[in-house]
Amino acid sequence: MPKSTFIDFKAVKSALTMERVLEHYGLLDSFKRSGDSLSGPCPIHKGSNPTQFRVSISKNVWNCFSECKHGGNTLDFIARKENVTIHAAAMKAIEWFGLNLGEMKADAEQEAGEPDETPRQAPPTRPKPPIQTKAESGGPNKALNFRLDKLEREHLYLKERGITLETAVDFGAGFCEKGMMAGRIAIPIHNPDGKVVAYAGRFAGVPSDDNPKYKLPQGFRKSLEVFNIDRAVKEPRDIPWVIVEGFFDCMKLHQLGHKKVVALMGSTMSGAQEELIRKSTDSRSQAIIMFDEDEAGRAGREDIAVRLAKFVFVKVHTFEREDMQPKNLTSEELAAIVGGGK
Ligand SMILES: [Zn+2]
Repeated sequence: MPKSTFIDFKAVKSALTMERVLEHYGLLDSFKRSGDSLSGPCPIHKGSNPTQFRVSISKNVWNCFSECKHGGNTLDFIARKENVTIHAAAMKAIEWFGLNLGEMKADAEQEAGEPDETPRQAPPTRPKPPIQTKAESGGPNKALNFRLDKLEREHLYLKERGITLETAVDFGAGFCEKGMMAGRIAIPIHNPDGKVVAYAGRFAGVPSDDNPKYKLPQGFRKSLEVFNIDRAVKEPRDIPWVIVEGFFDCMKLHQLGHKKVVALMGSTMSGAQEELIRKSTDSRSQAIIMFDEDEAGRAGREDIAVRLAKFVFVKVHTFEREDMQPKNLTSEELAAIVGGGK
């Protein structure tokens, strides 16, 4: 269960269909399907008339036209069936269907999400694709039909962060003077096919309170992408994947010589990101999770390790020093870590 008991009911509802709920109760077989609706005897007042209870599949709502004279959504149904509050029904649904609340919350915000999940036990088999939340089901991010040009590759901020001109060119990153990303280092994000789907803009300096550190375009869902996966997947299969949180960690490790590195753009992993990694690996693949040595990093990496361990060999790298980040490694230190990753 998540640390907080603050539940996003909307997210739970949108992740759940009436069909799944009925199936959970073993009721789906007793319902008749016709077009968009399912009808059957009312499971709540336990009636017998096969047309008294109806579910609209597309609207994801139910109605009892008989004794209950009531209807509602998935959570209302569970609440009535279990005779509990909506809150308790949501908690039950999360447990029964393995809904990933951390992911739902992360999807709701554009900035790097805070991890808010505790690890779960991993089943031993290769898993089915994770449940998609509503935020993930609206189709993929579209490829951009423009490029930001005249990006300044040799900007002082990049130099200060230890990014060489070669790396900036290689990743297509650079300081942007005009437009939406003005005053920021624009970093192109590619989908697995290598198409640019967005630019992330890192403020080139210390941003004021009302200015976010990272800016992403409206409507872009970073939870659907894994930064640099399009290139990392082409690296030799016997070297380990390194999974980091941020763009700069990724660029820096790449620069230090380990090119099979991807960033989750935050310290949590969405279901879609898990699926992308699953599709890019096989059961002999190795992955080293290398997150920042801080509270968010530690919380995130444990959950991610458990989930990835279902389909790859996973190692969690821990730094001895608090607040240490992958981008601060020397090339020798990195080589020692990934070399010993077998
Ligand atoms: Zn009823």
